[in-house]
Amino acid sequence: MSKSIVTEFPDICFFCGRQAEGEHHLIFGTAGRELSEKDGLKVPICNNCHNMGDRLNRIHDNPMAEKLSKMLGQAVFEEKIGSREQFRKRYGKSYL
Ligand SMILES: [Zn+2]
Ligand SMILES: [Zn+2]
Repeated sequence: MSKSIVTEFPDICFFCGRQAEGEHHLIFGTAGRELSEKDGLKVPICNNCHNMGDRLNRIHDNPMAEKLSKMLGQAVFEEKIGSREQFRKRYGKSYL
């Protein structure tokens, strides 16, 4: 398992600050999740913020939050890994 390059605090939910219970891959979906795992584009998250809270407060199934997640993933990639062009090649599209 790779390490997150987004945060140094693996036990704290990135979104609400409570105890993290899992990981959220910023770029998710079929191909994205695996690349996101390799690149460390993931954050600790509590179940509530992830997929068990009500629809407006969780990331998954909330289209705006899902979009922001991917944008953040790309922003971190561009800050720490490579260029937009490299991101586009690796992930198949640009979210920014
Ligand atoms: Zn949370
Ligand atoms: Zn997730």
